[in-house]
Amino acid sequence: MLLKGKTAIVTGGARGIGKEIALTLAKEGASVCVCDVNDQGLEDTAKELSSLGVGALGLKVDVTDFSQVQNMVQKVLDKFSKIDILINNAGITRDNLLLRMKEDEWDTVLNVNLKGTFNCTKAASKAMIKQRAGKIVSIASIIGLTGNAGQSNYAASKGGMISFTKSVAKELACRNINVNAIAPGFIQTDMTAKLPQDLREEMLKLIPLNRLGEASDVANLALFLVSENSRYITGHVIQVDGGMVM
Ligand code: NDP
Repeated sequence: MLLKGKTAIVTGGARGIGKEIALTLAKEGASVCVCDVNDQGLEDTAKELSSLGVGALGLKVDVTDFSQVQNMVQKVLDKFSKIDILINNAGITRDNLLLRMKEDEWDTVLNVNLKGTFNCTKAASKAMIKQRAGKIVSIASIIGLTGNAGQSNYAASKGGMISFTKSVAKELACRNINVNAIAPGFIQTDMTAKLPQDLREEMLKLIPLNRLGEASDVANLALFLVSENSRYITGHVIQVDGGMVM
């Protein structure tokens, strides 16, 4: 029970990596608020969290809207009195080559991935600063380190999350708040299920461990980064990619 008595917020927690992180933290004793725009998934995750015997809250929140995010933080404080952990996981792709990319595809991806991370970090860190303790982990991507043709919007958002992480880690270190990022490689979720089979096979050739990652591979690192076992680690981006980018 690494997280007994702790309270966590996980954005985009209705499915995929976010859901796996929420359940992993709950299994270690944390009360968890999952937020998402996906109503049905949210309800299912909240039920699964409750069945683990921890405090659970499922809130419909669009992370691009700061007032909705502030409202969520207030509801978590009302119910659990504190926020120890924030996982910035909500993220989307709208892939296209630069010359074909519509302004809307650029704006939507930057808004959800990067502005959403800013909104949630700003709102939750206010409570953490008062508590003089906290752990913030943002789910970036190896694409934020390497770039990728057809994903300039996504790469810019994830690269932005990485430099945002380092800046905020420097700002909040004196308040005993650790801020880190995880850069997953190719993880099996609904997000990657929509990729064409030939592209999946090409990507597999680039992974030394010769398999796709699972959501639990990311969740296990998230657990380490929000536990006291990583108390001397801040401002880092750690890859979970089967050796894809070295
Ligand atoms: P999924 O698409 O499976 O899940 C993302 C969740 O975020 C969905 O439930 C989605 O809702 C929700 N969401 C989307 N927009 C918003 C919003 N504005 N506010 C709140 N919630 C929102 O993605 P993954 O689990 O695969 O990915 C999770 C994170 O990990 C993302 O940030 C992604 O970029 C990152 N990542 C994933 C990799 C992978 O290989 N899967 C690799 C590297 C990074 P809805 O269902 O309505 O879309």
